[in-house]
Amino acid sequence: MNKGGRGNISNCINRTYARLTVVDQYYIRRGESNQNRKMLKCVCECGNITHAMAAHVIGGKTKSCGCINVEKSRLRFAIADTMTADIYEFCKNLVHPSLWKLTKQQFTMIMAVNCTICDRENKINQLHIVKRKNNQLPFIYDNCYSICSECNSI
Ligand SMILES: [Zn+2]
Ligand SMILES: [Zn+2]
Repeated sequence: MNKGGRGNISNCINRTYARLTVVDQYYIRRGESNQNRKMLKCVCECGNITHAMAAHVIGGKTKSCGCINVEKSRLRFAIADTMTADIYEFCKNLVHPSLWKLTKQQFTMIMAVNCTICDRENKINQLHIVKRKNNQLPFIYDNCYSICSECNSI
């Protein structure tokens, strides 16, 4: 298809990068310059067809058709659902009642963000730990953040 020149990325067809399997490659003109931008047509694991810049696919910037991001937000909702029932009560029971001022919704919001220290995602099977910024103050929303269990053990 393409003989390939300097700066050219070799044939990507049939290769798989993250969730994307390349089915076609082509070039588009890049603005005013004569440089061409290599594009890949890919089939995502979820079945969607997506077009992305080859550099992004190979470099790992584009990992899916976008379904990974959708799953992430679904995961957050899933965490919210499962957590509010069990883990909220569990955490609440660990501290003295006078110190626990978090509502389920606030607790969920604190737990739904990535680890404050290492930016690791909160996962259902490896939940984060709610910490206080100031231990003199109770568990109120403004005084709380979450970190992963690994950062917590350091
Ligand atoms: Zn997909
Ligand atoms: Zn962490």
